Amino acid sequence: MGTAGRDPPRWRRIFRLGIRQKVLLILLSTLLVTLSASGWLTLRAHQKDIVDETSRRGAELTHIVANNLAYRVVANDYHTIELQLKELVTHEDIVYARVLSAKGNIMAEVGEARKNDRGLVMFREDIRLGDEVVGKLLLGLSAERITRTLEQRQETLVQREIIVILIISVIEFLALSYFIVHPITVISRSLGADPGSDIHTIPIRSNDEFGRMASEFNRLRAALETKVVLANQELQHANAELERLTITDPMTGLHNRRYFEKLMEQEVALAVRHHETGSIILVDIDGFKPLNDRYGHDVGDAIIRKVGQILQNRIRRTDALCRIGGDEFFILCRHTDSAQVTRLAEELCAAIAHQPLAVVDQTVSVTVSLGAATLSGDLKIATQEEFFKCADRALYHSKQQGRNRVTHCSTLPEDRPPILT
Ligand code: GH3
Ligand code: MG
Repeated sequence: MGTAGRDPPRWRRIFRLGIRQKVLLILLSTLLVTLSASGWLTLRAHQKDIVDETSRRGAELTHIVANNLAYRVVANDYHTIELQLKELVTHEDIVYARVLSAKGNIMAEVGEARKNDRGLVMFREDIRLGDEVVGKLLLGLSAERITRTLEQRQETLVQREIIVILIISVIEFLALSYFIVHPITVISRSLGADPGSDIHTIPIRSNDEFGRMASEFNRLRAALETKVVLANQELQHANAELERLTITDPMTGLHNRRYFEKLMEQEVALAVRHHETGSIILVDIDGFKPLNDRYGHDVGDAIIRKVGQILQNRIRRTDALCRIGGDEFFILCRHTDSAQVTRLAEELCAAIAHQPLAVVDQTVSVTVSLGAATLSGDLKIATQEEFFKCADRALYHSKQQGRNRVTHCSTLPEDRPPILT
């Protein structure tokens, strides 16, 4: 079995999408990549912001608390220090606080400093009274709130980006559609249009590449159509010539046997149908074989041509003449009765007999024998074969009677077909 009708694989069907869909697909892919890249970059920038912001806030807070605690530390007021630290950790950013004496003893510790807590940033500061270091303060700050705020900012940023990129995509899509996809669609529609349709000529008048392509194409198409018209005309001429040659005898230029057969069929059918009278004549050159032998084949050919010309010159325009065999001719005479056709046949017989033929370097006298038959209008049944045979019998009779004469079928002594006169 062939594979021509099989569907292409699924992945290749994408190439069947229209150009608009492909453009849309490319824009959306670009949008997705741009968004992902910009989101990633924004995230990186914001992570740095979070660290900076937390450091700044933590350092500031630690400094203030250390200053506040200096007198309590000097006074070894453990209770107040703890109260102050407890109050501090109620603040949502501070989750852990510890105060050490100058010697390094823990004076107070509040909250929990979990290891691996990624949201926790530790700050250390000496507690000073004047220039003297009286203790140390350790604060653990949660970066959760700052992270949340920054995440919200990031979300807003990404939303804005999406809107901007969507708007740009739509504008790009419309622009691409108008400037590129539309001309391509118009061109492809015109290419497939029927010759008679309105868009047969590409209707693009722009000055860009599409405009030039369209005008170039229109020019080529017009030139091609002209050539096709000319080629068609030549073909018609060639066909007509071929048709003419198939029904023409090349030697005499008269109609040939093929034409004669068609003609007989049509004319007999028409005459029978319309009850018309019509006649035929068969003409055969007498003693042609000896002429051929004596003067040569070329002279023989010339004799056939001359006899053909004489016959052609003497028949009516409405009659038809064919060369149906070697030295045999056929004449169809429409609307001609037996008396008229006999008269015509006798004229032809006499014309040839009285006219010596100048052929090649010879002058040759020839005679012909003729047989005629007539189809009467009031007789309805006749076949072309019967009609032709009748003329043939008459010709045979002329030959039998000594040649150079005319016999009409109706004068034959033998049985005549009842339909023929
Ligand atoms: P008849 O009086 O009984 O007609 O005698 P005929 O010699 O004419 O005999 P027939 O008509 O039977 O002979 C026709 C001859 O014509 C036979 C053939 O040699 C010759 N012939 C046929 N075609 C051509 C042709 O194209 N050119 C030439 N030169 N001779 C041809
Ligand atoms: Mg003959």
